[in-house]
Amino acid sequence: MHCFNHESVAAIAICKFCGRGICRECAIVQPQGIYCSPDCKVATEETENAVEVNRRLLQKAPTSTFVSAALELAVGILFLALTQFPFLGGASPVLVVMGLLLILAAVYHFVCAIRFRREHKRP
Ligand SMILES: [Zn+2]
Ligand SMILES: [Zn+2]
Repeated sequence: MHCFNHESVAAIAICKFCGRGICRECAIVQPQGIYCSPDCKVATEETENAVEVNRRLLQKAPTSTFVSAALELAVGILFLALTQFPFLGGASPVLVVMGLLLILAAVYHFVCAIRFRREHKRP
């Protein structure tokens, strides 16, 4: 492979971001890697930051899933409880279906959160 800037010069490295060949003269050597241009260095840092932000969000994901599952369960039970009061129209099919659907959603979210936590255990 040759340097992308100097066609006659052999590349000594590959840019960490864009993968182009770079010669000794063109290489920007950093502790994190070798880059062909300041743009590629910045782009790599931005990508790494985005990955880090994503990783942190993923760690919080099971907790927020648990919270929404708990809320769904509470509202689902409330709906089913309402069907026990005759003055509210008794066992309205809509309330029963809504209540059951919410409880199903809650179970599904609990399972998701537990599975997620198992798969993404911190070392
Ligand atoms: Zn590059
Ligand atoms: Zn070069």
